Amino acid sequence: MIELKQISKSFGKNQVLQSIDLTVEKGEVVVILGPSGSGKTTLLRCINYLEKPDNGQIRIGDFKLDFKTAGKKDIHNLRQRSAMVFQHYNLFKHKTALENVMEGLLIVQKLPKDEARRRSTQMLEKVGLAAKLDAYPSELSGGQQQRVGIARALALNPEVILFDEPTSALDPELVGEVLDVIRKIAGEGITMIVVTHEMGFARDVANHVVFMDGGVIVEEGKPSELFGKPKEERTKQFLKRIA
Ligand code: ADP
Repeated sequence: MIELKQISKSFGKNQVLQSIDLTVEKGEVVVILGPSGSGKTTLLRCINYLEKPDNGQIRIGDFKLDFKTAGKKDIHNLRQRSAMVFQHYNLFKHKTALENVMEGLLIVQKLPKDEARRRSTQMLEKVGLAAKLDAYPSELSGGQQQRVGIARALALNPEVILFDEPTSALDPELVGEVLDVIRKIAGEGITMIVVTHEMGFARDVANHVVFMDGGVIVEEGKPSELFGKPKEERTKQFLKRIA
């Protein structure tokens, strides 16, 4: 359903991704693990063209793009198919929760206002924020702000949602409510790629776990395989450190 081929990316002389290949099936929840600086966030950002890979191809369903030759229209098409949930939420501070969710529907998808409002309200209800439609980000907890971020991604009805360390900026007592929402929407069969350090979540929710180090995929497999019987020394060391 989603196929990444030979994705490479350098920042100056620092090669951050080295010819990454990854296949994600429809409805799968893929968790990407790895030490800090291993390229996880960069890979996620490449999928949404927030970073431009130097090389490589992506296929999402029947849509294909070669990053080397992609033009504006291709990038627009790619972004219609994927939505990102950011570590620091990235909400507009001067817009309410509802307006934040509506923004992409009005600007990118050009939906009529009534329709955008209806869909956005529905998504905020889904993440448990029916009572906060008119609240500004400063009036919301970090967990609530991140749930607005998730509602915003869901409202776009993408083929895949990309989560970039969605709970790492949260106080520990707020992590659970955000993971619960992600777990709930995973149960609805939405394809997700999640960069996280939450091992419990990875074990419970992932169908597929990818371990990255030094800009390459060192090992990947089912959670029971990767956590239970890691094959590679680097994976074993990493799992030992975070246990
Ligand atoms: P991870 O998500 O695994 O912690 P990142 O993808 O954030 O890793 O970063 C991988 C490497 O790329 C790091 O060495 C980081 O410093 C570098 N890097 C990431 N973004 C940029 C950027 N915009 N400019 C320069 N270097 C970057």
